[in-house]
Amino acid sequence: MARHIHRAAVFHLLDDPSHDPDAARYIPDGVLVVEDGHVAEAGAWSAIGPRLGDTPVTRHRDALIVPGFVDAHVHYPQLDVIASPAAHLLDWLNTHTFPSEIRFADRAVADEAAAFFLTELLRHGTTTALVYPTVHKGSAEALFAAAQARNMRLATGKVLMDRNAPDGLRDTADEGSSDSAALIAKWHGKGRLTYAVTPRFAATSTDRQLELAGALLREHPGVLLHTHLSENHEEIALVRSLFPDCADYLGVYEKFGLATDRSVFAHGLHLSDSEWTRMGANGSAIAFCPTSNLFLGSGLFDIATAHKHGVTVGLATDVGGGTSLSLLQTMNEAFKVGQLRRRMLDPFTLFYLATLGGAKALKMDAHIGNFAAGKEADFLVLDLAATPLLARRIAAARTPGEILFALAMLGDDRAVKATYVAGALAHSRV
Ligand SMILES: [Zn+2]
Repeated sequence: MARHIHRAAVFHLLDDPSHDPDAARYIPDGVLVVEDGHVAEAGAWSAIGPRLGDTPVTRHRDALIVPGFVDAHVHYPQLDVIASPAAHLLDWLNTHTFPSEIRFADRAVADEAAAFFLTELLRHGTTTALVYPTVHKGSAEALFAAAQARNMRLATGKVLMDRNAPDGLRDTADEGSSDSAALIAKWHGKGRLTYAVTPRFAATSTDRQLELAGALLREHPGVLLHTHLSENHEEIALVRSLFPDCADYLGVYEKFGLATDRSVFAHGLHLSDSEWTRMGANGSAIAFCPTSNLFLGSGLFDIATAHKHGVTVGLATDVGGGTSLSLLQTMNEAFKVGQLRRRMLDPFTLFYLATLGGAKALKMDAHIGNFAAGKEADFLVLDLAATPLLARRIAAARTPGEILFALAMLGDDRAVKATYVAGALAHSRV
């Protein structure tokens, strides 16, 4: 048995702090014990340390150990168009995104981008993500292979789009379905990988393609459904015009059996009361993408209403519409969106959204999201002195909440000292 012991301040959440005020665990002198890549225990050094025998201890000074971050929605082929200005979503897609995604027909392009992407995720402290590749089967294969090589828990699936997209970025309904089925057979449940059936959004799929996507979900009980929903008013109007028999945007996904308790919808910014109620009843999750929503001027996510309807929410970067791969930066922007919605997000909730909340959204909370015994040991060592300003602010902090809030407001990839995947060091800042 391989055992590793990490001593530092430790923080994780046992549940959603907006439901359970006692869910947060902050241990100033803590220890995380890892055995064979899994959490054996986490707690106070004073309680656990004396019975650990002579196993060497890795001491992390000025550091906080937290669970690895979960990015609930991100596009790996868009790294070359991050930081490209656009007036709004549809302009962004046509001007920047589609031309960039066409290059992923070339497997070598996909392999290089997938390797770069995962290295960047780990450098930013993200150990799990739900990821869009492109319409090309090879772009999903490239990411699965790269994630498997790094032993990362990751979900992706070939994008389905058989209309309203340029040449070189369309599949057909039947080819999209058979390619998805082949990818599920090859990758789903292999190691730490999950397949996600991924229609780009309702407007880029025919009825037949959405029908076949629904059939894939029914035939493969463990796979996720990953798509976009209600991001932008022009997009919503387009979907309504394409599906005149559906009462609203969510109704399109419901009609084809795609609004399930395994569905993760990016955005959900402009949902009606009826759509919110049905989201709660369907058990679907939303990926909250604040940097993207602000960058594209899409709108302000209403987390209070999500909570009211019991909708699971995970935090997401949505790069390249989003402007940072850092979940710490994304917490910062999520807080500001909350302020504009008159819902002040506490630091425990911000960290919850980026760890256990994201894990729940992706149906992975049995495996990751906190340091409950038996979970996979994906964790970060955050540097409490990463910058002079962060060090100064944290020195003045009086409570765990103040320390976490300073990390969320002032932190970014510079604060990630080390990233561990299943107990093994996967990134170390030089
Ligand atoms: Zn997106």
